[in-house]
Amino acid sequence: MPHPARGHGAGRAARREGGGEAMADIRFERVRKVYAGNVVALEEFSLVIPSPTLVVLVGPSGCGKTTLLRLLAGLERPTSGEIYLGSERIDTVDPRHRDVAMVFQSYALYPHMTVRENLSFGLKIRKIPRATIVKKVDEVSKSIEIGDLLDRRPGELSGGQRQRVALGRAIVREPRVFLFDEPLSNLDARLRDDMRYLIKRLYQRLRTTTVYVTHDQVEAMTIGETLVVLKDGRIHQVGSPPECYSFPANAFVASFLGSPPMNLLDGRFLPDERAVVLANGIRIGLTAALCERLSLGGVSDLTLGVRPEEITLGAKTDDSPPLALQGKIVATETLGHDVLAHVDLGGREVIVRKRSQRPVESGGAVSLSFPEASIHVFVGSDRRRFAWPEGRTGAGGVRAVVDSSRADSEPPARQDSGGSSGV
Ligand code: ATP
Repeated sequence: MPHPARGHGAGRAARREGGGEAMADIRFERVRKVYAGNVVALEEFSLVIPSPTLVVLVGPSGCGKTTLLRLLAGLERPTSGEIYLGSERIDTVDPRHRDVAMVFQSYALYPHMTVRENLSFGLKIRKIPRATIVKKVDEVSKSIEIGDLLDRRPGELSGGQRQRVALGRAIVREPRVFLFDEPLSNLDARLRDDMRYLIKRLYQRLRTTTVYVTHDQVEAMTIGETLVVLKDGRIHQVGSPPECYSFPANAFVASFLGSPPMNLLDGRFLPDERAVVLANGIRIGLTAALCERLSLGGVSDLTLGVRPEEITLGAKTDDSPPLALQGKIVATETLGHDVLAHVDLGGREVIVRKRSQRPVESGGAVSLSFPEASIHVFVGSDRRRFAWPEGRTGAGGVRAVVDSSRADSEPPARQDSGGSSGV
């Protein structure tokens, strides 16, 4: 379906009213941002976002997400480095001429104007003919279902309606790039779900490159084609949501994506015992295949990661394997379809997610097991992934230069052995 306002025939390389290329890749080249007081918001940052892509910048508070958007919009200047939109260098261009549209958490609507005037304003100041404005506003307002609100002022709208108007105001401009800065944070959970779906559908229809910022990993996983996971002004991983979830680049990504997060257990690999001994003395037996890989990789200290949904709980039995992990359920949380069991393993708590057909009782002794293929291994001071699977899916063309000092983070072997761990 064509852009409701752009109409048919907008070719990939077409020139636009604003003069820029209609579909243009975004390129950050060694961009650094240091605020007053020597606050480093972004370390040297290089990223290519091909057009069209819906990319989500996700990370904890203070990781530099908003700074990146503001740099793209022209509300901040980089301390060093360059930003390109297509072939045009834009970090030196006045924000009004960048042809990007930003949607904020706070809506930022003009309170004294009606919805129609809010939608029309940006086009009026660009001296678009009146008849064209009327047509565009009509088409866009229908496409996001605010056609019946055009004569109201923002103060007469609900939060969800205001955010739709803010979205509409961005769409009518037909920008080369949409920037979303935590646009759903002020909405209740149900509205967030609806808006998330609306934004995703709009992207699929308009195919305009969209850079979406959120600290909410669920929002990121559900909306993004590609995730850029940030922490402390650095990229930690670029990948599709399933890839980042299933093959996290390091222990930070593993624990950031997923709710509840991945269980991470620090320990030491003991090749002679074919086991990992955890800090609390508990041993986890490994298959010969995984032991061989760890030995070849020279691994000693490591962090094992297992997602809560990969662990199976069973009642402790007399014939449990010798290396079985035995624990005690200390608390449960019911989520409706699933239940979370917090299991104490010798002073270390592990979370298990299981279907809640049967009640799970606190206080009971249980054994835990998980397939060895579900074990993630992280090594080194930066707790990077020990092995990547072959044939990684890539990130839809989004590419990052993570950090040259991390170039050794591609480990030598593949960690995909089957079988069960001895637990
Ligand atoms: P949040 O999710 O909390 O909005 P964020 O990931 O968007 O966080 P930024 O707002 O980009 O993070 O901030 C990155 C870092 O830069 C933080 O340490 C922040 O305190 C700092 N920072 C942001 N703006 C300024 C400013 N104008 N002056 C000084 N430091 C700033």
